[in-house]
Amino acid sequence: MAQFRLQNVEDFYELGEILGSGHFGEVRELRERSCGTCWAGKFVKLRRSVSSRLGMERKSVEQEVEILQSLQHINIMALRDVFESRAEIVLVVELIRGGELFDFIASKENLTENEAIDFLKQILRGIGFMHSKQIAHFDLKPENIMLSDKNAEHPEIKIIDFGLAHRFIAGEEYKSLCGTPQYIAPEVINYEPLSVSTDMWSIGVITYILLSGISPFQGETDQETLRNIVDMKYDFDEHYFSQTSNIAKDFIEKLLVKDQSERMTADECLLHPWIKPLTRKQAANRSRSSINMKNFRKFNARRKWKMSYNMVWACNRLSRLQLHCKRDKEDQELRSCESDQEDTETKPASLIRRRLSSSS
Ligand code: ATP
Repeated sequence: MAQFRLQNVEDFYELGEILGSGHFGEVRELRERSCGTCWAGKFVKLRRSVSSRLGMERKSVEQEVEILQSLQHINIMALRDVFESRAEIVLVVELIRGGELFDFIASKENLTENEAIDFLKQILRGIGFMHSKQIAHFDLKPENIMLSDKNAEHPEIKIIDFGLAHRFIAGEEYKSLCGTPQYIAPEVINYEPLSVSTDMWSIGVITYILLSGISPFQGETDQETLRNIVDMKYDFDEHYFSQTSNIAKDFIEKLLVKDQSERMTADECLLHPWIKPLTRKQAANRSRSSINMKNFRKFNARRKWKMSYNMVWACNRLSRLQLHCKRDKEDQELRSCESDQEDTETKPASLIRRRLSSSS
């Protein structure tokens, strides 16, 4: 089990600006008091009671920490330290200053397939490393792919958010309904046993979006999106893919495969001729092709808008819940009743709903 320090994080680190927020708390810049080095602190609120909807179970945070501890790779966010108090756990992690990869790409005038591949290779190396340790991420999406420093000549990819990650144990089946609709594989929706190749489906979706600026299975509603995924309903509409090489489409087709065992692995992806051209002709085709920037920027703007909409929605919901809790507490005090009135819903169901409604 991971060792959590029972000291106060603020005795060692000065709190800085808020860098982001997620379902279970916020991420803030931290400055190490002894040497001035900057880090990021992921503050995760702990669930106070079994029936509570707010906060995260200690066991899940332990799992995230244990997984991060075993993943030391240049393209995966590094964990430095963990602090624990009664109400929250703070993960001190590598500070990633470059923002999201998709925002960086959207800010560029244009991007060739060659340049996109440089990023994809790094993502695949990070994932390949994770998979070699039998760990799957299970929440690969643009929000979780960041850049260490966007001003560097070759910005480094950093994969973040291991909140849904899982380490497979030989002989044990693992099923889960968690994920984000646009990016989840059919086996998740069908509640079938998952494997590390479930991540490779998400890589197929991310690559498709990166090249065209449209999402392959996106429907009008989450339900429609999930139906499209299960029915494998996608195509390469010429209107969006006119600048895309055929070899890039072949790469995507070998990832968006229903049968998990038939999907390319991360290592196989790195050897695919789109990533590693075998002939001069393949290399030339690749460097002539570019990504559909106009549409990509539109996709990214819509994605950002939805993220802030979801955040406002989540904040409102949180305040309503807190208000509800406060009232309950007052009622409880009045009635001197011991039961927790905050939420009686079972945990897995509420988590699934939270994830599924998050960013489609
Ligand atoms: P989610 O609700 O998406 O599952 P979460 O609660 O698990 O989120 P993270 O995704 O780990 O939290 O972090 C939330 C946000 O904080 C990220 O989208 C990112 O903008 C920012 N962030 C996370 N880690 C770092 C880091 N190491 N350096 C800089 N910013 C970070």
